Order: sequence, then C-alpha cells, then structure tokens
Amino acid sequence: MCGIVGYIGNRIAIPILVNGLYNLEYRGYDSAGVAVVSNSKIHCVKCPGKVEFLARAVVGRLPDSDLGIAHTRWGTHGGPSVQNAHPQFDCSQSIAMVHNGVIENSPSLRESLAELGHSFKSETDTEVISHLIEEKSKHNKTIEAAVLAALADLEGTYALAIVHSGSPDLLIAARKGSPLMVGVGEGQFIVASDEAVLVPYAGKVVHLSDGQAAFITREGVSIRTLENSEIHLDMDDVSRSAEEIQRGGYNHFMQKEIFEQPFALINVLRGCISEEDKTANAGGLLRVMPRLLSARRIVVTGSGTSWHSALYGKYVLERYLRIPVDVERSSDFTDRNPVVGKEDVVVAISHSGETLDTLAAIRIARSKGSATLAINSTGGSSIARECDAGVFINADSGLGGVSTQTFTSQMATLVLLTLSITRGCELEFKEWLEITKQLCRLPDLVTETLQLEPYIREIADDFSDSENFLYLGRGFNYPVALEGAMELKEISGIHAEGFPAAEMRNIQTMPVRNGMPVIFIAPRDSTYEKVVRNMAEVKARGASLISVIDEEDDRVRKISKYTVRIPKTLDMLAPILSIVPLQLLAYHIALLRGCKVDKRSNPARIVTVEQTAPEI
Ligand code: GLU
Repeated sequence: MCGIVGYIGNRIAIPILVNGLYNLEYRGYDSAGVAVVSNSKIHCVKCPGKVEFLARAVVGRLPDSDLGIAHTRWGTHGGPSVQNAHPQFDCSQSIAMVHNGVIENSPSLRESLAELGHSFKSETDTEVISHLIEEKSKHNKTIEAAVLAALADLEGTYALAIVHSGSPDLLIAARKGSPLMVGVGEGQFIVASDEAVLVPYAGKVVHLSDGQAAFITREGVSIRTLENSEIHLDMDDVSRSAEEIQRGGYNHFMQKEIFEQPFALINVLRGCISEEDKTANAGGLLRVMPRLLSARRIVVTGSGTSWHSALYGKYVLERYLRIPVDVERSSDFTDRNPVVGKEDVVVAISHSGETLDTLAAIRIARSKGSATLAINSTGGSSIARECDAGVFINADSGLGGVSTQTFTSQMATLVLLTLSITRGCELEFKEWLEITKQLCRLPDLVTETLQLEPYIREIADDFSDSENFLYLGRGFNYPVALEGAMELKEISGIHAEGFPAAEMRNIQTMPVRNGMPVIFIAPRDSTYEKVVRNMAEVKARGASLISVIDEEDDRVRKISKYTVRIPKTLDMLAPILSIVPLQLLAYHIALLRGCKVDKRSNPARIVTVEQTAPEI
C-alpha cells in the first residue's frame, strides 16, 4: 500500500502534489506519478524510482492547474515501469486514477472489458478500474454515477483518487480497506492516504470509512455511500505534526523501522513464492536467469551493511548452488583491475541504489561482459538502471540512524534468490520446500523476537557505560556479528568490533578486559559446539558474555551474564532473527547515552546517495 495525494483548490496543484509525495516517501515505493486537469485534458508524468526523479521530470512538462492527483506506487501487479506507475487511464484518456490496494477480481474484469473492446497498457489491477468506469459511463449520465457503479463491481481493497477531463471542478475519492482522508483547508481540499500530507494545508480532516466515496468541488465535500446516499460530514482537527504522524506512535524512526521488519519481510516475500506451482521467483530475476543458471562464479558486491548482506549471501548461495561466490567490498573491487568475465554474474547490493562505489563496480563488471543484477530499494535508481535485472526490496525509510530493515530484507532476498536459482537443480525438492516454508514464517518469528525489547533494555542499562564491545559469531552468524557491531558503533560512537568467533584464539592481543561485554551469536547450528568452546575461552579472559541462543543450554547459561533467546528456525535463516536483539541493543544503548538515533527530523527530500566524493 503506498501513497495517494489529490488536490483541488485555489492554488497551483503540482508543487502541493509533489510535496505530498515527499511526505509519503518514508513508506517506501517503486515508482511515482502525477496528473493534472487543464483545458479539458489530463496531462501526466510518471517514472520508476524516486519522487526526486518525478520532481525533476515535471518541470516545464505540465500546465498550471488547480486540480490533480499523484501517487507513489508499491506494485502488486507488474514491476516498476512507466506503464505500471500510476495514474492509470481508460482508453480515451479522459479518466485518470491513483490507487492503493489490490483488486482481487481484476483478472476476470480485465477479460470481460477486453471482450468489450478495451485495450490495456499496463499490467496493473488499477487500470482495470479506469476502464470499468469508462464502460459504466456509457450507461450512466454522470461521472459520479459511473464511478459508484464501477465501485460496486470491485472485489478487494482500494483507496482511490480520480479525475475526469470533462469535470474540471471535481476530484473524486473512494475507500475500501485502505486508508484515505480529505483535508479541508482555506479554499482548498486535499485527498491523502496519510495525514502527514495534510499538515501544511488543512486544519480539518474527514476520514473516509469503507464503502464511502467523496465528491469534492471547490465549494465543498459531499460524502456518499456506494448506493448514493449522502452522509453527514464528520470533521476532526489535524493536530499532530507531520513527523509525529510519520513516526506512527513510535518514539523514533529507528524504533519504528526495527518494529516494522515483519511487514518489510512480508513485502519482500509478497508474490515471490507460489505455493501452487511450488516455485520461488525473486521478482525481476527472469532477465538474468539463464546467465545465473550457467554462471561459473557469482560475485556479490556492496558497502557497509550491504557488504555484510553480501557475505551472508555467499554462505547461502555457495551452500546450495555449489559454485564459487566471491564477496567484494565495492570500493576494493573498483580500486583494482578485478578478474571478472562473461561467465560471471555480478550482484550489486545497495540500499539506495545510488552508492557510487557499487555503481562503479557494476560499470567495470559490465565492461568485462559479466551479467549484472541489482538488489536495492527502488527500481529507478542509478544502479538498477545500469544492471541487466533488479530485485527491489523497498525497506527502511532512510530516517532511522542505521539500516535495520535493509539488512533483514536483503538477507531474505538473497535466500529468495538462492531458492529461485536452485529450484529443480542441486537442492532436493523436499529441502527446498522446507526452506520456503520456514522463510514464509519469518515475519511471525521476527514479531516474536521483538517481544525481547524489555529484556534487551535491561542489558542496555547494564552496559551503557562500556566503551568497548565485541561481537562474535561463526558461519552464517559471522555477518550478524559484523553488522551488530557496526550498528552499535554508528549510532552510539562506542568502539565495537565484529569477529569470527574462531579467530579469538589467534588474537591473543585482543584486549578482553574484565567485565567487557562480548556478544556471542550462537543459535544451535553445526558450529554450536565450537562456539561454546570459544565462549568458555573468552569467559576465562574475564569477559561478560551476552549470548544470543535459540535453545536453553546449561553450559551457555552458566557462563553467560545474559542469555537472549530467539525462536528456532533453520540455520541459514537464524541471522534474520539474531540481528533483531542486536538492533534493539544498539537503539537502547544509544538512547541511554543521549545519542541521536534518527538521522533527521524532516523527512522530505531524503538523501539518496550513500557515498559521495567530498568537495575539496
Ligand atoms: N495494486 C496496484 C498496483 O499494482 C497498487 C499498488 C499500491 O498499493 O501501490 O499497481
């Protein structure tokens, strides 16, 4: 479900619509678009990727108008593209609409409308509604009546904002199962899927209920049922700030992003696993699938958190594909003349899709004939545009102080990627099914893990004065150790290091002082016995152990000051759970030390470039 803005009033609509979209960016999306009505015509600009791209694209391309609609889309029907971005139109281009939600009966509606001669330009379920209204217009005298008739035929969920070229004084909104409201300001009305959009323009708000439509003219709002009976207008005050609304009841964006990981994971998995035909398909992979299937080697590259995900990806991909997987820090890859070629596939992981080193790595890989695959937040990013194919995960608003959803979503995507390639190949079908099943349980297991917050707060309280932390893990949990340490370091300024637990024996110089917190990520997997030995060694050097485990074990409990118990899952999926208490620990320690846990308070215009060269 993404974002809707609609405007009718006494001001020029475009800046208000685009600003509204900026205020919705924190929800994540894959494409954006805007349409205005002027001189009995609808003018529209859409593009995959950032609102920023749209903001640049509209300049000089749209006439001044005081009526329009805009959208950020998180597609359910079709990938991110100009065609699939909203607004969606009918055949005669006289009806434009933006839509949040899913129309369940769109396949059958599409079929019957096609039989009646309608031709479709996108893969979306939304376009079906535009054509349906067009069809209903043939039998209804007014656009209002045609809209109500069309809504009655829809099954599923929708929040809609609609304009009609022949009705320059009318903005239509309708809701079923997806939030939508009408802001009432001085001489202007704003339709929005989120109150944050309304704040600068409207003092009052009408929250639409399911099964209601709003017909908004410059003179006022009329709310009606689908049966066309008028409903009394109930207005509330818009009292919270945009930021409060966007934080959605959480104290900080970082906390919100940690707690919304179950939804982020649902988004990653949505539509990628078909239980019916028992297939996994990380969206957007198809174009590189033949190259992936015949690859001599896969190179996964990224920076920071994305590099930690890449390392996790190596363990998962190698285990099931049985081909070599190299992990490269993007900066290091671009500093040399790397050995990659036509038989290799280079996977570029970057949250924003704008990381300069990773972009440079992709350019090198392409110049040497490698196939390239992007894993990043949105489809329109520079990296996505330069890669042969892309999987887009839409995690983190970029407002939390560190990446949290990004790491768990990237790891889940890498598992999906593995499942997509291995189906029918190396992996036994029974095992494939089990991994798929456990992957789909992850959102629930993350929710369960989040219940640990009060206990983690206690641990944070105990160690918030410590100036050094060590994070140790083996195998799949080594990348978690690296990421956990980096998160704490980034957000609290504490010195924290992640290491492979096995290396502790060799690093006698590692200063483990009396009482120093050492975090072991130790779910019971094939490395467990060895990790327990490592724990004993570190304990003998005077450390205070915090052990993240999935099964009670007396030996671990006896030597640990704290044991943090995560739910049991497959070895390879445990990191997606074990990182969660570490995120909470970093968050609470930072708060206790008075550090800033969010990047910025005004979320408009999020910085999309992770690393840029400083001006000298
Ligand atoms: N189902 C619509 C689509 O795929 C809308 C998705 C959304 O809620 O953004 O285009």
